[in-house]
Amino acid sequence: MVKIAILVREETTAKCTGKGCLKSFNGKTESFQRYKGMEVELVGFFHSGGDLEYKLAKMKEAGVEVIHVSTCMRAKYPGYRELVEKISEQFDVVGYTHGSEEGKTRKTVSVIHMENVRKIING
Ligand code: SF4
Repeated sequence: MVKIAILVREETTAKCTGKGCLKSFNGKTESFQRYKGMEVELVGFFHSGGDLEYKLAKMKEAGVEVIHVSTCMRAKYPGYRELVEKISEQFDVVGYTHGSEEGKTRKTVSVIHMENVRKIING
């Protein structure tokens, strides 16, 4: 069982219900296709505002291994790359949720730890 969480952009939550992220998660498509054939549990779905460090600590406590940083974060969050790198100190990070793996305005940054080596992946 892999435990994951989705981090989305605070401002986008004013209008977005998370439908696109959850559709991809439920169907194991797009960024979630890596979990095909595996049991995966969505433990958290939270936005980038407020006390983000606290939220991440709670996810760690809950056993989350992978944080998916949403496609709207990739498109519009000013410190996207720096945030992915910071989060990757504690989790594997997949730098998008739904849509194309290649960002339109920014490259996707994912960091997967393999045998204790951090591997930064630019889509
Ligand atoms: S990635 Fe898409 S569905 Fe997910 S929170 Fe952002 S705008 Fe909404």
